[in-house]
Amino acid sequence: MMAVKVKNSLENTALELFGLDASRVQNISTSPGIGQMLVEVTLVPAFPECPRCGGHNIVVFNYTPRVINHDVLTDRKCTLIYNARRYKCKDCHRTYGEDNPFAMKRQRISILTGKAIIEDLRSPNETFASVGERHHVSATTVMKIFDMCVSYPVPVKLCRVMQIDETYSFKSDDSKYVCMLLDYDAQSPVDVLPSRKRSIWQLISESFPEARETEWSTSRPICTGPTGR
Ligand SMILES: [Zn+2]
Repeated sequence: MMAVKVKNSLENTALELFGLDASRVQNISTSPGIGQMLVEVTLVPAFPECPRCGGHNIVVFNYTPRVINHDVLTDRKCTLIYNARRYKCKDCHRTYGEDNPFAMKRQRISILTGKAIIEDLRSPNETFASVGERHHVSATTVMKIFDMCVSYPVPVKLCRVMQIDETYSFKSDDSKYVCMLLDYDAQSPVDVLPSRKRSIWQLISESFPEARETEWSTSRPICTGPTGR
């Protein structure tokens, strides 16, 4: 009796964690283990129209279990086994997958885990490795998620005063440091370049290719570091 109650409560928790409406779920089962929880989910079939011919004569073709790492439970690893359904159009024989509401593109990581990873990376004290360890994924995966999710606007106009400095980084192309260009007035980053091993003007032209002709003639260094470059 108790076992059934706990099982149901875990299933409800799992639904909440994945942000799923119970009406979308055909089957969900949970099996708690030491240090991790397994959740298996099959969604209600929606029989979407055929993407090729627009037909509505659709049948379920097969199921492929997909393993997705999910760690909204902070105290243990949570693995989601999602039985991804494929449909088949009986008119044109095309097969196609249902919408996967769980995983980020090309990653076996859930959307919620991705969001949590990006949120953690906002802290300057965190590294890719420390965030990866917390979320049970490798540092390389954290880097990939960062590259996929984070972008900043491409600078188009030189700022009035630009600061150039190096800051420690995990690894860039050819050094342990990346070169940061900062807008002095706004006190905000303008660009991050792989290395400082070039002259100031080479660095600026990398970030502001458009500014070369129009603005450079009026630019001058007001203070340079020990190398004087
Ligand atoms: Zn079709």
